[in-house]
Amino acid sequence: MKKNGFSRPFDKYQILTWILFTILASSFYFVYIPLTPSQLFPIISIPYTLSSCLVCYFTFRVCSCNPADPSLLSDTKTLTKSSKTCTVCKSDVFLSSKHCGSCDKCISGFDHHCRALNTCIGFKNYLNFFRLLKCVEIWLLLQLVTELYCLTKISELFQAKCGLLIFLLIEGILILVLLLANGGLLIFHCWLKKNSISTYDFVVKKYYRSVAPSMGDGKKSEERYIIKSSNTPIGHPYSVSQDQLTNL
Ligand SMILES: [Zn+2]
Ligand SMILES: [Zn+2]
Repeated sequence: MKKNGFSRPFDKYQILTWILFTILASSFYFVYIPLTPSQLFPIISIPYTLSSCLVCYFTFRVCSCNPADPSLLSDTKTLTKSSKTCTVCKSDVFLSSKHCGSCDKCISGFDHHCRALNTCIGFKNYLNFFRLLKCVEIWLLLQLVTELYCLTKISELFQAKCGLLIFLLIEGILILVLLLANGGLLIFHCWLKKNSISTYDFVVKKYYRSVAPSMGDGKKSEERYIIKSSNTPIGHPYSVSQDQLTNL
């Protein structure tokens, strides 16, 4: 059973994000900053350093949290109602809990398993995960703006700095891709919150919609989702928290 995001084995996507963060942060301090005028240094470096620290802080908060169902963390039975027995680990857990094969445990208010963080996102760490997405977006935006500034400046010295120009161009494309990908994820989670569903609910509903024509039993995909799924819809981690508090 995996305790949290810092438990081994580390996921290859988790290692990749650490490497990317180190490369981009190093580029900022060792490549961008020497190219910027000294009077701009505090304006550029203070917000960037602050956002970098927040990215590290929320990554630590999400990864160090154990999102397991409360019944797995204590010997005392905390559920009074709205419980079920997990078909995989045979534990009595909340209805909103779901067993994660990667973590090998039931997750309270399951949303999804994040490979980049090597942990599940559920009721206990969803809020910090959402904050992390926002901080990463700001951090990448600051990185891109500074990078573009350096790129325009170095372009004037194309003959002398050809290698550096190519490096900045490649890195600029990488930052833009990451910014768009993270922005898309942030918008998706805002949409999930608005519609009070979890990522897991969304994926399962999408699956039943995709197989609907081949099933041909006259039922709507929403009905099939409830009938065929072994669990009831989980709901968004924010709404799950209220259910659990009332059932404790
Ligand atoms: Zn389980
Ligand atoms: Zn997991």
